[in-house]
Amino acid sequence: MSSSFLESALAPVDHAASLLGLNRQVVAQLKRPERSLEETLTIERDSGTVGNFPAWRIQWNSALGPHKGGIRYHPAANLDEVSALSALMTWKNSLAGLPLGGGKGAIQVDPKQLSEGELERLSRAYVRAFFDHLGPDRDVPAPDVNTNAQVMAWMDDEYSRLAGRTVHAFTGKPVGEGGSEGREVATSYGGFVILKRFIENLSRKPRTVAIQGFGNVGSNIAKFLFEDGFTIVAVSDSKGGVFRADGLDIPEILDKRPSEIGDESGYHPISNADLLELPVDVLIPSAIEGVITSENAPDIKAKVILEMANGPVDASAEPTLDEQEITIIPDIMANSGGVTGSYFEMLQNQSGDYWTEAQVLEKLEKQMEEAWAALEETRQKYNINYREAAFVRAVERVAEALP
Ligand code: NAD
Repeated sequence: MSSSFLESALAPVDHAASLLGLNRQVVAQLKRPERSLEETLTIERDSGTVGNFPAWRIQWNSALGPHKGGIRYHPAANLDEVSALSALMTWKNSLAGLPLGGGKGAIQVDPKQLSEGELERLSRAYVRAFFDHLGPDRDVPAPDVNTNAQVMAWMDDEYSRLAGRTVHAFTGKPVGEGGSEGREVATSYGGFVILKRFIENLSRKPRTVAIQGFGNVGSNIAKFLFEDGFTIVAVSDSKGGVFRADGLDIPEILDKRPSEIGDESGYHPISNADLLELPVDVLIPSAIEGVITSENAPDIKAKVILEMANGPVDASAEPTLDEQEITIIPDIMANSGGVTGSYFEMLQNQSGDYWTEAQVLEKLEKQMEEAWAALEETRQKYNINYREAAFVRAVERVAEALP
């Protein structure tokens, strides 16, 4: 098992800590999980045999509040990865200005190999295994890779069954079962708000945009930007994309796969590699990690990269992008609208007062603007780039709150 993902998730903490002048004990505390839980989940398969699945819940830090972070189901899930993701959630939640700590969970499983019934039994088994450490005041998981509102509904139900009363201990639930309106668009709306704030102080306003990935995040941010008057010249999915120099009609293609649109209405197919190198004002990677590397960095022509995916810019690309004066708005700021939306779901569950989508988005906008203002202040104070400033601000908040 490689430890490189965890090491790279922790490297910016050292840098931030040295800028902040934190002492060694504090840094050591920030770089260790509070609790690292591992269990083997056993379920009965439909065939009558028994299935065993390794599962984790890593509770990184709770100085700011209950642990919060997703649960992923993946055949390659492992302790190193879930630990790194748990640490990253700590910084993301802190930067977003939320009263939440960080955590992450995983089950090592290929969910495609499980029937619906097996998936439900496995999800409920996860809650039974970690029940003592979960709950609204302790740790509130959410969906992640290969988990969804249905999985959260099973988990929330199992938690309530064990507690002997209705308790919402998970977010990302279906609307009507304690879920929040606006959850589907929270991540993309948050990114849209951040981009607007960034642009505010530029003398030349960016106009053209290319978006890689047209799933939940990519298609919704395309919609918000289009409605706001931006020209989206290209979008793509895993198989390729579509381009039109004077802009795509986003509402027209919202329900289509970009790679299947082909040559019509002046649209042209474009590869993912070429999309990333288009001479646009703003590039929005919204698909997967590591798509901009030292290999293609010299050919990136966008002036701003808004990281809506997690980790789309590899660390090896950053020096070249810096030299080209390309601004990177880092993932932990750009896509934190998702976890902020989850926090709003927690608030609605606590109060029993449910908000409309318009109310959710209004509160989201305010929260994101405050987080952005704090990031901008930190960046200017230390004269560093946005990614460095994001970690400095995030680490500073957690360090101040340490017991
Ligand atoms: P999704 O599965 O809905 O969409 C992913 C899109 O990326 C699809 O259009 C898919 O075809 C495309 N894609 C997949 N592999 C690709 C490749 N190799 N090259 C180009 N395109 C590819 O996922 P999503 O929920 O939109 O999430 C996208 C990214 O945003 C991920 O990195 C995710 O971790 C991150 N993110 C999502 C949320 C959220 O709330 N959904 C929150 C925070 C971060």
